[in-house]
Amino acid sequence: MKKALICGISGQDGAYLAQLLLDKGYRVCGTSRDAQMSSFENLARLGIRERVELQSMSLTDFRSVLQVLAKVEPDEVYNLAGQSSVGLSFEQPVETLESITIGTLNVLEAIRFTGGKIKLYNAGSSECFGDTGDRSADESTPFRPRSPYAVAKAAAFWEVANYREAYGLFACSGILFNHESPLRPQRFVTQKIVSAAYRIAQGSEEKLYLGNTSIKRDWGWAPEYVEAMYLMMQQEKPEDYAIATGESNTLEDFVAAAFNCVGLNWQDRVITDTSLYRPTDIAVGRGHPAKAREILGWRAKSKMEDVVRMMIEAKQAEVQNAI
Ligand code: NAP
Repeated sequence: MKKALICGISGQDGAYLAQLLLDKGYRVCGTSRDAQMSSFENLARLGIRERVELQSMSLTDFRSVLQVLAKVEPDEVYNLAGQSSVGLSFEQPVETLESITIGTLNVLEAIRFTGGKIKLYNAGSSECFGDTGDRSADESTPFRPRSPYAVAKAAAFWEVANYREAYGLFACSGILFNHESPLRPQRFVTQKIVSAAYRIAQGSEEKLYLGNTSIKRDWGWAPEYVEAMYLMMQQEKPEDYAIATGESNTLEDFVAAAFNCVGLNWQDRVITDTSLYRPTDIAVGRGHPAKAREILGWRAKSKMEDVVRMMIEAKQAEVQNAI
């Protein structure tokens, strides 16, 4: 039985990945900064809370990382932990940089220290590309990060590439474009939109305040994206892959689709609030996942409108179950 360690198992991707690996017969261990305090709500929601082993681990504390690795002795480590919000990274740049760059370095060093046999998946991000303009970004596209989060992810990407080359580690980065699901926290704009559209359809009089709705993103479905992570780790050679749908839509399209799903016109309810604009933003983000298609046999089945519909349906089911 293969053993996987998922750092950041309480998050959206951590929970879906745990479910996927359990289905594949893995023994799954997961970490949270404080496993005693975390509610692991996402794991509970997927009905797998009792099927995973949980450990406390602080990525920025080398001793803590080393201790967990020595105790769990995993075959595969998936590092999904770290400050993950682009918006918050402008307010907490040091925390963001530390949790991502020092965190990734500690995992790499701990793997090296324990003999270098453990495979590592690193959660890279399409934010590293910056504005992709009218071209789609792939593995050969240069990085032009436009937020503290993206700067940190770019550094972590090169840390992984360097340890792979220098020490022969099986270490790879998935450069994932945005992927959403009902497990997305409320602070992320997609969940904020879906929740507001649902409440308004239920009779709420509220307005939805959004920043720049003309930005374009390549939105996919999170459960499909964790499949790509798993596939990267099953290859003979560790390589980096861009994971995307290949299509981009404006945030306004996303809003319109969500309100349309609940039978409402978004223009009556949405207010643009320039105080929500980011200091620097990406106008367009779109990926070109040809390498993933060719080598991993992976392709995104769900596009933006499917993602919106599934998030709205999950919201309806959640409320009905609570009644
Ligand atoms: P998420 O839901 O925010 O989960 C990340 C986990 O990291 C959290 O559950 C949290 O676990 C831990 N964490 C949060 N802040 C931290 C901090 N300051 N220091 C250390 N740990 C912290 O993120 P996700 O959407 O599942 O994404 C997984 C990974 O993929 C992240 O690295 C993210 O940056 C990256 N990524 C995500 C997307 C996307 O569209 N979702 C796209 C590209 C890349 P505890 O609170 O339990 O410790």
